[in-house]
Amino acid sequence: MVCSIGTDDKQILAEFNSPGCSHAFFNRHGGVGRAPFFSKNVSFGVGDDAAAVRENRRQVKRSLQLDRLISARQVHGEAIHCADAATGDEEIDEVDALITDRPGVGLMIQQADCQAVLLHDPIHRAIAAIHCGWRGSVAGIIEKTVARMQGCFGSEPAFLQAAVSPSLGPCCGEFVNYEAELPQAFQRFQVRENYFDFWEISRWQLQECGVKAASIAVAGQCTVCSSDYFSYRRACRENSGRTGRNCSVIVLRPQTDR
Ligand SMILES: [Zn+2]
Repeated sequence: MVCSIGTDDKQILAEFNSPGCSHAFFNRHGGVGRAPFFSKNVSFGVGDDAAAVRENRRQVKRSLQLDRLISARQVHGEAIHCADAATGDEEIDEVDALITDRPGVGLMIQQADCQAVLLHDPIHRAIAAIHCGWRGSVAGIIEKTVARMQGCFGSEPAFLQAAVSPSLGPCCGEFVNYEAELPQAFQRFQVRENYFDFWEISRWQLQECGVKAASIAVAGQCTVCSSDYFSYRRACRENSGRTGRNCSVIVLRPQTDR
């Protein structure tokens, strides 16, 4: 059972809380954007006013007391960026996962139904933020990021903690072309005709990597069903897909905080 701490503009999973690391799943509230980006859209790539996006990102930085905010211009690919030389805020081109062992450097994923999967290695003091849509699930981006953390930081999967953001739920996970798009191994996560449970797919993929079941927290909130979140699928029904992006952020705290 996941226990979350909700505030007006964000959700924090109690099970994923740690003295060495902070995280938050921000919803669409509390920002300065106007419809259809009302109000805390964090993406520069969806047609919103850039000044509003900059202010929303400033709010995110203030809220989590970040020194720097590293984001990704996500492309549903498999590239992973290590933010080990960040000197200012940066948006990295064409990557879908961010990792770092630097305290104060916030890693941000932007999503509207896709998952953000956050990882924390409390032993080696390292974190990851993964953009995981269905293409990422198919490509194994979680496994690739865990492997990269092993290579870069010596992270052992058995000691990793993981959190899956609010995102597309089994209630709304319709894939009419699933036979062409999804591998056979996903079939057992089909919950009814054409509907798949990607929360459970991520839980399974994390465990396949060696992450312990007890160390995985899933927010369990569907962004299509909840109007508290931007949702691409809901926007496609309502206004041809123009909508903002929610953000999920993770940051290491300085050692002295522990
Ligand atoms: Zn739903």
